[in-house]
Amino acid sequence: MNNENIRDFIRERVSRDIREERISGGVVTRFPPEPNGYLHIGHAKSICLNFGIAEEFGGITYLRFDDTNPLSESASFVEAIQTDVKWLGFDWESRLTFASDYFPQLYEFAEELIKRDGAFVCDLSFEELQQSRGTLVKPGIDSPYRNRSIEENLDLFRRMRAGEFITGSKTLRAKIDMRAPNINMRDPVLYRIIHAPHHRTESNWCIYPMYDFTHCICDALEGITHSLCTLEFADHRPLYDWVLENININFHPPQIEFSRLGLEYNVMSKRVLSQLVESRYVTGWDDPRMPTLSGLRKRGVPPAAIRDFCNRIGITKQNNYIETELLDFCVRNTLENTTRRAMAVKRPLEVEITNFEGDDVGLPAPWHPKNLELGERTLTFGRTIYIDRDDFALDPPPKFKRLVQGGIVRLRYAFIIECLDVEKDEQGTVSKVFAKYYPTSRSGADTSGLKPKGVIQFVASNNAHSVEMHDYDRLFSVPTPHRERFDEELNPLSHVVHHGFVEKAVIAVSDSHSFQFERVGFYYRDLHKSSDEGQVVFHRTVPLNQGWKPKV
Ligand code: ATP
Ligand code: MG
Repeated sequence: MNNENIRDFIRERVSRDIREERISGGVVTRFPPEPNGYLHIGHAKSICLNFGIAEEFGGITYLRFDDTNPLSESASFVEAIQTDVKWLGFDWESRLTFASDYFPQLYEFAEELIKRDGAFVCDLSFEELQQSRGTLVKPGIDSPYRNRSIEENLDLFRRMRAGEFITGSKTLRAKIDMRAPNINMRDPVLYRIIHAPHHRTESNWCIYPMYDFTHCICDALEGITHSLCTLEFADHRPLYDWVLENININFHPPQIEFSRLGLEYNVMSKRVLSQLVESRYVTGWDDPRMPTLSGLRKRGVPPAAIRDFCNRIGITKQNNYIETELLDFCVRNTLENTTRRAMAVKRPLEVEITNFEGDDVGLPAPWHPKNLELGERTLTFGRTIYIDRDDFALDPPPKFKRLVQGGIVRLRYAFIIECLDVEKDEQGTVSKVFAKYYPTSRSGADTSGLKPKGVIQFVASNNAHSVEMHDYDRLFSVPTPHRERFDEELNPLSHVVHHGFVEKAVIAVSDSHSFQFERVGFYYRDLHKSSDEGQVVFHRTVPLNQGWKPKV
């Protein structure tokens, strides 16, 4: 371990614990998702932290599913989460565990707590329980069932487990203090009755332990040396400690909190994301506009860019929102030098080269101007080509450097053309451009003496493959959206489809699906999807850089 790696307060703490020999067997961390949805980029922060620390300090990490609520969890979420963690580049090896693996031990600890008079069976309904808890300024009131004898509690708890009582009719509660300033310590519920099959334990259990009882015990059983969680759990820490102090267990991990990741123009809670999916605001968990790992993957974001992003945002105790530009920056930075560059026209405008006769000419061009290892492909140029509508203006704004009537422009990797005339449709929109080309003006060997101000991309019609280009923008139009106001705050232009052309050579590439379409953006070919017309689909990964740079 070198000092460079001690870049936040958690790594500092781990390093000190090692130095002071507080942990004997090496660092052990865990990533504990609840399988009730797909992972998002906030989870990536936690994954990079937990797996990262273990890697840096020569330790190990468990992937532990916190599966204590059969009503909202499923095996399909378990699968999807594993896919995402692996994709992000982390390996739990044989350390895949489930809170449900520990249900028998958790049950034994609960009985032990009852025997020590540390827990009681309560018959209050959920609403009554809520009301008796009090508020931040008002103490709670003792449950009328609080003074049941140990024997009675044990008997009732065993009968709860045996299935004698209906869902929600009883709970097991810790006996702590209804007047504690911290509401989490006011006789919190440890077990509830839910008659519902569990995706792993099926119908073996009808009582399920709560997070606060489960998490600390699982951490202790797995020998977690640093239990890292987000700040909202700070108020639960006294309960985490209370449970471990009041049962017979010989390991007590420290809980250490860090700030959640918030990303501007996004929502970042599985519950809210699932609301977006269920209300069909998006096409699914993997909609490319979602901040989920599956959505980012579908959009073509490489896992290395997400790791870089998590590294740059760092670990602190201040909750804050990160600008989406930083993520886009990391994506471009990762793709910039490794991704082939090619030409695409998103909104094609036909150009007839009136002085071109015969077959198209082949023009070799490198896949990348600097990374020559990527090799080259052959473009063609011929009588009919397409340029982007945005690159032609009848009525150009000041400083317009692209094609205008009577003006010249250079076609990337090809010739200079001059616009001679245009054809318009009934609405008066330009539907075709007539141009001539200068045969001696080929890029790299230009003897024409002409000096056009601009360079634009083009695709020859004989070299054009028709594609759907899906452009994504922020899902929300406000930086910190609120779940109650989705309808007003969703960005109506977050998904726009263009019917364009790419060079045929792009379609033939099989070893990579990422491309930078010159002057257009980074795109990712969807291998699983074609449009309704059977066309190839490209998702825009990120737009090109618009001059944004990280502050540090
Ligand atoms: P969500 O509200 O999105 O469902 P959660 O905390 O309930 O989040 P879990 O599956 O319980 O989701 O989270 C697993 C781990 O990921 C926890 O340790 C949690 O602290 C961490 N985590 C969740 N969201 C974030 C976030 N936005 N930033 C950092 N860590 C997060
Ligand atoms: Mg949770």
